[in-house]
Amino acid sequence: MIIAGNWKMFRGPDPAALAGLDAIVCPPYTRLRECVDAGLVTYAQNVHWEREGAYTGEISASLLLELGVTGSLVGHSERRQYFGETDETVALRTRAALDAGLQVIACVGETMQEREARETEDVLRRQLSVLEAHQHLVIAYEPVWAIGTGLTATPEMAQEAHAFIKSLLDAPVLYGGSVKPDNAAALFAQPDVAGGLVGGASLDVDSFRAICEAARIHS
Ligand code: PEP
Repeated sequence: MIIAGNWKMFRGPDPAALAGLDAIVCPPYTRLRECVDAGLVTYAQNVHWEREGAYTGEISASLLLELGVTGSLVGHSERRQYFGETDETVALRTRAALDAGLQVIACVGETMQEREARETEDVLRRQLSVLEAHQHLVIAYEPVWAIGTGLTATPEMAQEAHAFIKSLLDAPVLYGGSVKPDNAAALFAQPDVAGGLVGGASLDVDSFRAICEAARIHS
């Protein structure tokens, strides 16, 4: 079971309060060093595909590695929705990060409109078609309609999507989308759910600890 906390553009909790927790944290860039120094397994929220260059506002895998960062999220739906991330740039970022020695959690998932149009499998197939299995690649299935909305895929919906993803790509698949202490256990009980990518609830130490505990029981 893998649990990762995505702090998004929030300051997030005191890293010392998370010491000893079997989890990944994805803080904003300004707190990466602090999390690494606190001994936490630390991922960035994004990574560029070039080693260096004139790419203002971007960060490279080598700069992250120099800081002691272990991995990066790639292709989060907020990047896709608001910052023009495409399947092609997700592929470039993922490949460069893996080649450089970072671990990657690549995010995929359909919008509500796509789900209602019964396009979920087509969307997942398209998003995954640009990725290749790698021992350091994990997929996060994050239905866009469930992120930060309080709506969660039912355990059965998550299982169905995860099984489909695994039929296309051999990788552990995390569920993300309003994971909370009260729904985590049922989601983690599904056979193809390998853990969770947690946004809002990872900002609260007690909630995040409770979700990690639910994962520990199922591992
Ligand atoms: C996320 O940011 O990846 C996420 C799943 O957010 P939330 O848990 O708040 O829905």
